[in-house]
Amino acid sequence: MAPRHIAVVGGGITGLAAALAICDRAGPDVGAIGVTVLEQSSNLGGKLLSGTLRWDGHTQAIELGADAFLVRTPAALELVSRLGLSDEVIHPHTGQAHIFLNGALHVLPTTTVMGVPADPASLVDAGLLPAAAGRQISAEPDLPGEPLVADVSVGELVRRRFGDVVVDNIIDPLLGGVYAGNVDALSLQATIPALAAALRSDSSLLRAAQAVRAVAKGGPTFGALRGGMRRLVDAAKQTLSAAKHRGEPVAQVRCDAPVRRLDRGEQGWELTVGSGHDRQLVSADAVLLATPAPTSARLLRQVAPEVAAELAAIDYASVAVISFAFPELVLPDGSGMLIPSSSGLIIKAATFVDHKWGQAAPDVSLVRVSLGRHGDVQALRRNDTELVATALAQLQLVLGPLPAPLASKVQRWDGAMPQYTVGHNARVAQARDLLGEDRSIALAGAGYDGVGITGCISSAQRAADALLA
Ligand SMILES: Cc1cc2nc3c(=O)[nH]c(=O)nc-3n(C[C@H](O)[C@H](O)[C@H](O)COP(=O)(O)OP(=O)(O)OC[C@H]3O[C@@H](n4cnc5c(N)ncnc54)[C@H](O)[C@@H]3O)c2cc1C
Repeated sequence: MAPRHIAVVGGGITGLAAALAICDRAGPDVGAIGVTVLEQSSNLGGKLLSGTLRWDGHTQAIELGADAFLVRTPAALELVSRLGLSDEVIHPHTGQAHIFLNGALHVLPTTTVMGVPADPASLVDAGLLPAAAGRQISAEPDLPGEPLVADVSVGELVRRRFGDVVVDNIIDPLLGGVYAGNVDALSLQATIPALAAALRSDSSLLRAAQAVRAVAKGGPTFGALRGGMRRLVDAAKQTLSAAKHRGEPVAQVRCDAPVRRLDRGEQGWELTVGSGHDRQLVSADAVLLATPAPTSARLLRQVAPEVAAELAAIDYASVAVISFAFPELVLPDGSGMLIPSSSGLIIKAATFVDHKWGQAAPDVSLVRVSLGRHGDVQALRRNDTELVATALAQLQLVLGPLPAPLASKVQRWDGAMPQYTVGHNARVAQARDLLGEDRSIALAGAGYDGVGITGCISSAQRAADALLA
């Protein structure tokens, strides 16, 4: 029999998308379903967080977390459409990025697969690779090799086939930047699955990268919503609150509702919700854990210790975003820049917000700087004032002298970016296998099936389907 009440733990995009999917699937086939979203903080959205910068009576909206979703696969756009927001989708004005190398910015050609070259000459021409590296890559198809079956780190594979300089100059700032991770530890299968798939039938990394590029769709890669990511979160909340089955509300969304414990009850699950002095029990026929993997591990420790052990092995990196409003600046063309870790700088990327999304306010330039790399615990130990001063000094190293900012804001995201290290997919599959036949609990979210918003939405929908199957 289909579950009657499903508790969704976590009100980030995964939890919201899962709750919507559950409501949408209620009907004659699966019967009536109630869904309760339990979010520990006072806000929904998790890493989707729109905020403001303020100065001299001005208030400027800015994204403090994710600022765009992938549109090359349909899940995010479908959710946006489901929420009636299709007309509000905007696309970046430019996707051109620069890499800071040898004291200068170089345009990153769009001829790579997450930094893995498909056209070495374009990278040599852009000044990102020495000519010798270009020749080495071009000759790579002649190297002996086997089709790749086992997982491998992206760094190890590219160093072996193309040489260190490709990893250090291009893959580290691009792929390492996205995951705030060490590319010598990040899994090829989990982070660039299309390339891993191509390498199963072709031993040449260059040919595989070219094959992936050849089937890449045209059109925009990313989208966002006019008015910010907050709109996605608000619309999801409203749609959930309005969802009805036979005239009865289907969904409840509760903030300030941290789930502390998960126990098996007589007929399903018992969730202990709330803080010490104000605890409640919530009963559910099924539970969808849309929390970061370490939290899900804690919740599962008593009831499924082996699953908990697998999830606890997924490490996370802390990151921070510093938003600056400057008096209008002349910035390099393009949407922003990436900084390799070999630079020794703690800033790892900057978004030129006006170039990417259009100028928000006259005479003002907005720049978002990202910091934080897995394993570098020192960089973010600085207090906010020190962090702003360091980021500003390092921005000037790259961009030249800058005027004093009109405003700045630090948003810290502790333990935010899951590290998909070698074997990640197998680890996640093993965790799900260990949950086994128990169709009353499911895992979804950034910790498992893709860190991006679009991947989280797909993960949420698959988990909802699994619970309702
Ligand atoms: C700075 C930054 C920039 C990013 N930029 C992009 C981007 O531009 N594009 C993109 O696609 N992706 C981006 N990402 C990644 C993406 O935003 C996240 O991976 C995604 O939003 C995660 O969604 P989630 O719902 O799985 O997890 P979260 O957003 O982490 O949500 C989990 C929720 O669970 C709640 N929770 C935790 N413990 C409990 C508990 N015990 N009880 C109840 N609730 C609990 C948390 O409060 C949180 O709200 C970015 C990430 C960061 C940090």
